[in-house]
Amino acid sequence: MAGASVKVAVRVRPFNARETSQDAKCVVSMQGSTTSIINPKQSKDAPKSFTFDYSYWSHTSAEDPQFASQQQVYRDIGEEMLLHAFEGYNVCIFAYGQTGAGKSYTMMGRQEPGQQGIVPQLCEDLFSRVSKNQSAQLSYSVEVSYMEIYCERVRDLLNPKSRGSLRVREHPILGPYVQDLSKLAVTSYADIADLMDCGNKARTVAATNMNETSSRSHAVFTIVFTQRCHDQLTGLDSEKVSKISLVDLAGSERADSSGARGMRLKEGANINKSLTTLGKVISALADMQSKKRKSDFIPYRDSVLTWLLKENLGGNSRTAMIAALSPADINYEETLSTLRYADRTKQIRCNAIINEDPNARLIRELQEEVARLRELLMAQGLSASALGGLKVDEGSPGGALPAISSPPAPASPSSPPAHNGELEPSFSPNAEPQIGPEEAMERLQETEKIIAELNETWEEKLRKTEALRMEREALLAEMGVAVREDGGTVGVFSPKKTPHLVNLNEDPLMSECLLYHIKDGVTRVGQVDVDIKLTGQFIREQHCLFRSIPQPDGEEGPWHPDSGGHPGAL
Ligand code: ADP
Ligand code: MG
Repeated sequence: MAGASVKVAVRVRPFNARETSQDAKCVVSMQGSTTSIINPKQSKDAPKSFTFDYSYWSHTSAEDPQFASQQQVYRDIGEEMLLHAFEGYNVCIFAYGQTGAGKSYTMMGRQEPGQQGIVPQLCEDLFSRVSKNQSAQLSYSVEVSYMEIYCERVRDLLNPKSRGSLRVREHPILGPYVQDLSKLAVTSYADIADLMDCGNKARTVAATNMNETSSRSHAVFTIVFTQRCHDQLTGLDSEKVSKISLVDLAGSERADSSGARGMRLKEGANINKSLTTLGKVISALADMQSKKRKSDFIPYRDSVLTWLLKENLGGNSRTAMIAALSPADINYEETLSTLRYADRTKQIRCNAIINEDPNARLIRELQEEVARLRELLMAQGLSASALGGLKVDEGSPGGALPAISSPPAPASPSSPPAHNGELEPSFSPNAEPQIGPEEAMERLQETEKIIAELNETWEEKLRKTEALRMEREALLAEMGVAVREDGGTVGVFSPKKTPHLVNLNEDPLMSECLLYHIKDGVTRVGQVDVDIKLTGQFIREQHCLFRSIPQPDGEEGPWHPDSGGHPGAL
């Protein structure tokens, strides 16, 4: 099979404080693009070696000539993928590895000079290239969405109104998509940086409220990049669209080997479903390439993650994976398993094609579908108006809309559907001519809605984006999360003078942090009629209160929580 193989890089981080204090040994070494690992229990055995597109030695610091910085990782992988996006290909970068191995550091990084990860560097580069390429013939648009998959449920990280989970659906023409996921119009790097920040905070808020750990969820940041070219000679417009998917996967360690204690049973069953399925999909795709087995059976549909990333994994995409490695001897088994996973991923090839004029074609195809459905309804003696009573509430995610059914895309073989989580049940292609009037009607309405979205003007999109931004801010303010005067939320920088609470979550790996200010006087915490609003299983309506008494000399005085009869719960 032709096509480009998935680019695979591995990266080893420095020791963390705990490993240093425990005198951990480094079991990983790198030579050029080869990574070797020794078994600390059998150190006389020959090391196991693997070769990748890149092996990044980030175990030391910048003084080491071998050291791979955030910029280097971006230049090798991020920039290449961005250039493919400009060519009009779909691209995907995903980070894999054990919790704490450096996935989020590699993807998002820290908000300090030189510490930014691939995602912010790519977004910045995208806008700087766009501004350099400005011309009368060319125009660009950028839209982003940010979602989290936790226990097979999809959560919109940019829309505060969407509290529950969104439905993953399949459209006969569009393929798999998340219904009602917000797609925000952005015009500058600052816009994107702001959304990333909000999304990361929403992740923290959700995890805090639901008592989850962020290490168990997948974060998918998507940029839809459209380039329009107006030919002055012919007067014709042409368009290239690229979907850039940037994925920070959940920790790859087995759920029972770390931190799974106290987890509800249902979560336990679902928690790694997406990751397990990703492993199966990668194995099946790799086997297909090496022809070990005539695998025409790729279990994309078995999880939300693989279903949504279907194109990125085996289809129309340029894809890169970065596997984050821990250097420490105690993590030997997990690190070896990550290396093997990366080694398998190397074999996958994707057939990327340039997406030329996809919207025009899409709208045409969707309109044909609308016409076909209308005919079908007519043939059944029903007109759209006669079916008015079936009108569904379009705005509500997770509403009463049943699945849109369609056969799986013929190009990529899929397995039968899995009846799990939010994945919609599927349908046999042969059943298609017999769809009932209700189903045809729903499909008609859904398709018309998609056409309307595709036809929305840029101004309308910007207006929607602004409305959502205001809602997000109002929500954070309502929760008592500290908000700067310019409206931005306060991130990891603690105010020196004012007493405050830092995000109330037991997960020390949470990369984002929330600040709640304790005012002079009384600050009430709980669910109803409070200054700091927390929701969650164990939070009472009036949970506790804080009293802050300023000293006469102007210094902040001692402050102490007044427990509302629920000691130790916060
Ligand atoms: P993961 O997302 O895989 O769970 P993180 O990216 O959060 O892991 O990394 C865990 C910790 O290690 C974080 O404090 C992070 O800043 C630090 N870290 C990870 N990789 C590097 C690196 N290459 N250089 C410096 N610090 C790193
Ligand atoms: Mg992480």
